Amino acid sequence: MRYVGKVYRPPSEADALIVQATIGCSWNHCTYCDMYRDKPRFAVRPLAETLADLAGAGRAAGDRVDKVFVADGDALVLPMDHWEAILAACRAHFPRLRRVSCYATAANLAGKTDAELAQLRALGLALVYIGPESGDDVVLKRLAKGATAAEHVTAAQRARAAGLEVSAIFLLGAGGVARSAEHAAASAALASAMDPHYLAALTLTIVPGTPLATQAARGDFTLPSIEALLGELRTFVAEARPTDALFRTNHASNYLPVGGRLPRDGARLAAAIDRALAGELPLRPEHHRGL
Ligand code: SF4
Repeated sequence: MRYVGKVYRPPSEADALIVQATIGCSWNHCTYCDMYRDKPRFAVRPLAETLADLAGAGRAAGDRVDKVFVADGDALVLPMDHWEAILAACRAHFPRLRRVSCYATAANLAGKTDAELAQLRALGLALVYIGPESGDDVVLKRLAKGATAAEHVTAAQRARAAGLEVSAIFLLGAGGVARSAEHAAASAALASAMDPHYLAALTLTIVPGTPLATQAARGDFTLPSIEALLGELRTFVAEARPTDALFRTNHASNYLPVGGRLPRDGARLAAAIDRALAGELPLRPEHHRGL
């Protein structure tokens, strides 16, 4: 496989073949994100290159690939003819293929019709990772996320109606000290309304060179303390009411890895967080954390 710049994927796609069908993120404005700042000009990769990579991977290890993650940052934005060809190639080259997934923004989903989403599902796209990060519209605006909580609900509902699985990602600390409580409660409410199959919480890191780092240097944004971040997590697990979602905080950015199903395991997870707040469970050391 050939890659341009750094390539990112969710923790649950660690064992997936990553094919880079787009370069960068078509939005690329979120204030905290530096993932694609080394690729400031978003581009759709020439389809022939993407298909050649898939064919090469098929020849090299086709029978070992059961998951494909289509990168980069919001690959659902690809036009339908690219998706149709990529999904056909995945089916042709990887006989054990179980699922194809990608990151998607609310705008990406709004840019596809219901029929197109159903067509993508029929052709093999199985899961979309959507990162609203917060359910609080004030926070979403400050983050320059490009969509409201209500637009994320619509996006998730339309994806599910098309038969796609949805993974929703939230960002502890995204409201700063100023909106910590509102951010946590509204994120739990948005997680309930999006009703995803999978839920994840990451912890915000202020990355040098981002607009958020500039805001922090000016004193306009302050990251909550570790205790306050765990408090946000506690609110989230106690209040989120999706139908039945697998919840994880296994991303390297988090201080406390926990996992279970929400809402079923909410009380157990809250108790584990209470033990961590009481110093009875070890936290991930700062030097072991990552983006
Ligand atoms: S949509 Fe995702 S990849 Fe794009 S700028 Fe925002 S956080 Fe980064």
